[in-house]
Amino acid sequence: KDVVDLLDAGVSYDGREILRDVEWRIAPGERTGILGPNGAGKSTLLGLVAGTVEPTSGRVKRGKTVRVAYLDQRLAELDAVMDRRVREILAEQRSTYVSGGKELTPAQLLERLGFRSSELSTPVKDLSGGQKRRLQLLLVLLNEPNVLILDEPSNDLDTDMLAAMEDLLDSWPGTLLVVSHDRYLLERVTDQQYAVLDGRFRHLPGGVEEYLRLRAAQAAAPRSAAEGAR
Ligand code: ADP
Ligand code: MG
Ligand code: MG
Repeated sequence: KDVVDLLDAGVSYDGREILRDVEWRIAPGERTGILGPNGAGKSTLLGLVAGTVEPTSGRVKRGKTVRVAYLDQRLAELDAVMDRRVREILAEQRSTYVSGGKELTPAQLLERLGFRSSELSTPVKDLSGGQKRRLQLLLVLLNEPNVLILDEPSNDLDTDMLAAMEDLLDSWPGTLLVVSHDRYLLERVTDQQYAVLDGRFRHLPGGVEEYLRLRAAQAAAPRSAAEGAR
């Protein structure tokens, strides 16, 4: 029931085909890492799953019990709260976060993500990029999603924050889709990897290693590699 099915899904923008014939059944608990060069269509693919992008061909079916949370690349969830202080935003959160049988309040969750209490009185717009990303992750987790979609989550994060986020994601029990160029993150928190390349969504049985080999081959022979993918 909490399956997302992409059936022959494709996306074109202004007649330009970005993704085609994507067949992907996302099963509950699946943990997938997605790689691909800039502009390949990774965010578009995540948008299809999240429902923020409509397919221009094929279909996307979302199970009735699917609750998608999408941590987007541009931190859009925070747009509405830029002028508010972190403390006020936390005070409005009703839910708690349960991890390993332990219930964390929003403030405890932020602390676990490496947030300092001195930052609670800072307006969101004055937070650093990494702090904004933590706050966005917190707001997303408190929505109790069962499908969590992260688009390049390690952008702006320092090593401490990255480690905290990896721990959190590693123990998070739901379905996880992560687009990242961070090999360590992908290998730690996902079980399988796919690539978006030349408009196609393809499995990488050999994981990140295979992706790097594919890209090296494309760089060595760009034309024949692109033709070979068609
Ligand atoms: P990635 O996340 O892999 O870097 P994107 O999915 O963001 O790639 O974008 C894929 C291509 O589609 C890019 O060329 C981008 O400029 C284009 N694109 C993305 N969104 C839109 C849109 N809403 N309208 C027109 N073109 C878009
Ligand atoms: Mg699958
Ligand atoms: Mg992107």
